[in-house]
Amino acid sequence: FPVERIRNFSIIAHIDHGKSTLADRLLEITGAITKTQKNKQVLDKLQVERERGITVKAQTASLFYEYENQTYLLNLIDTPGHVDFSYEVSRSISACQGVLLIVDANQGIQAQTVANFYLAFEAQLTIIPVINKIDLKNADPERVENQIEKVFDIPKEECIRISAKLGTNVDQVLQEVVKRLPPPTFNREDPFKALVFDSNFDQYRGVIANVALFGGCLSKGDRIVSAHLGKSYEVNELGLLKPEELPMERLYAGQVGYVIAGMKEVKEAQIGDTLYHQKHPVEPLPGFKPAKAMVFAGMYPMDQSDYSTLRSAVEKLTLNDSSVTVQRDSSLALGAGWRLGFLGLLHMEVFNQRLEQEYNASVIVTAPTVPYKAILSSPRLIKEHGREEITIVNPAQFPDRSLVKEYLEPMVMGTIISPDDYIGKIMSVCLNRRGIQKNMVYIDDHRVMMKYLFPLNEIVVDFYDHLKSMSSGYASFDYEDAGYQAADVIRMDILLNGKPVEELTTIVHRDRAYSAGKAMCERLQDAIPRQMFEIAVQAAIGSKVIARETIKAFRKNVLAKCYGGDITRKMKLLKKQAEGKKKMRYIGTVQVPKDAFINVLKRK
Ligand code: GDP
Ligand code: MG
Repeated sequence: FPVERIRNFSIIAHIDHGKSTLADRLLEITGAITKTQKNKQVLDKLQVERERGITVKAQTASLFYEYENQTYLLNLIDTPGHVDFSYEVSRSISACQGVLLIVDANQGIQAQTVANFYLAFEAQLTIIPVINKIDLKNADPERVENQIEKVFDIPKEECIRISAKLGTNVDQVLQEVVKRLPPPTFNREDPFKALVFDSNFDQYRGVIANVALFGGCLSKGDRIVSAHLGKSYEVNELGLLKPEELPMERLYAGQVGYVIAGMKEVKEAQIGDTLYHQKHPVEPLPGFKPAKAMVFAGMYPMDQSDYSTLRSAVEKLTLNDSSVTVQRDSSLALGAGWRLGFLGLLHMEVFNQRLEQEYNASVIVTAPTVPYKAILSSPRLIKEHGREEITIVNPAQFPDRSLVKEYLEPMVMGTIISPDDYIGKIMSVCLNRRGIQKNMVYIDDHRVMMKYLFPLNEIVVDFYDHLKSMSSGYASFDYEDAGYQAADVIRMDILLNGKPVEELTTIVHRDRAYSAGKAMCERLQDAIPRQMFEIAVQAAIGSKVIARETIKAFRKNVLAKCYGGDITRKMKLLKKQAEGKKKMRYIGTVQVPKDAFINVLKRK
């Protein structure tokens, strides 16, 4: 296929602005060309329905599109939508020459729209703004076009107004992709070079890497090397994604497709890695860095007898997600488990949910923590670690102030977009989270965009929920990495009946220790049910107790209410109580519900 008639593009959007819906429409429209005219609608519909499972995960698809009597190959490259995965987004984008930037005609520009725009802008891609959902009653495309001109400096005439749902003007989107985007400039005569922009694990066939060819060509049977690990593989199968796999004999520069080459784990085909021919090594594509974990949490089986089942579930899940880091860990109270690192809180929740749903595992997840750093002053510790600067991902291992020159905490630059009615409230919440305002601009007559520098620790657990509920759902939020800053932080322990519970240890800012300690004790008081004895809940800094709550003793006799008869009701109550118990974990003699470990950090 001639390179001049290839276009590689991505769809980027704030969540729910219609990325998947538009992708489905594009697949429908272009699928129609390869079918006979008769019955095409019905066939396409069924096929799209059948492929839904695939399109949810990977919308990477090679589409054939007829324009002015020429056939074009349009490669639609999927990007994950959430802030946790912005590193992956930037990698997928680097395989493209342009993007469709979708904005909802009712909601207008939101925080992720801005973040995604900059990723594409910095990669110097052609950006086609698309205003979606013009069929909505409250759609105001005019206003959104003005926002786009103001915030992104893109002339409003360049916007395409569509309804992905009804299909209105969707064909025009494809025409503009052909007209406005440049073809890739890669050369078939160069040595083979490909970017891995996604990878999946298949139980039977191993790793399926999604690749974009930046040079040369690749054939079945070739021996290739992945630059990051330097391991070599033989190509067993390769082809196009339509989006289902279509095996081919060969892929060429400018094309996008999949490669199966006997890789056993996705770690061998990491996003952003470069593949090349063993015989013709090339300079790897720039900017490869392994995904960086920003949130760490302990994970333990509810019951130690489930340890090996859980271990195999964790292994299987990480086989498919190379961005999760895994370290063995153990604790006095919870036994053997792991300390896992995630890209963000959503990533952690998805992982946890998959463990429970797909592997039926019952796990305790401890309070998440961000990676702190410490510059050590103690010669003993420096010798022990072999260096001055260490990263701490487990609060229980936080070195004491007396052994440290300085602590550093990770920072992020947050973008908040909101109607201006909420400015006051938002500013006070941000201040409360130790946010520092860097910028504030109006993007239209009553919406503002604010930039805040935050300690990651302050926003990682529940800031977004808080922002949403405070603004009746109107404010949106996104953030990017902003390095490390010196911080006056200390370790706070929680004691249940005088026994420290390592899994509840957190790192807090010194100025907030008292209020944080008090809040944690109150939340634990709510989270732990009354038991047959009194429970003292204490927060302590070193040996000094800074807060205390008491959970009064209580004897819960569930059967007292239904004397005599009704045996089914009795059974029901007993069953309910048993289920309640199942979710409890003993810490010493105290029963703690498993979600208490994470809920203690959620502010009201
Ligand atoms: P994504 O999160 O960006 O992939 O968004 P989706 O494609 O999943 O769409 C989010 C919601 O918006 C879904 O309920 C869609 O049905 C709806 N939607 C998408 N496009 C349109 C449109 O053009 N008009 C209307 N009224 N709804 C739309
Ligand atoms: Mg979607």
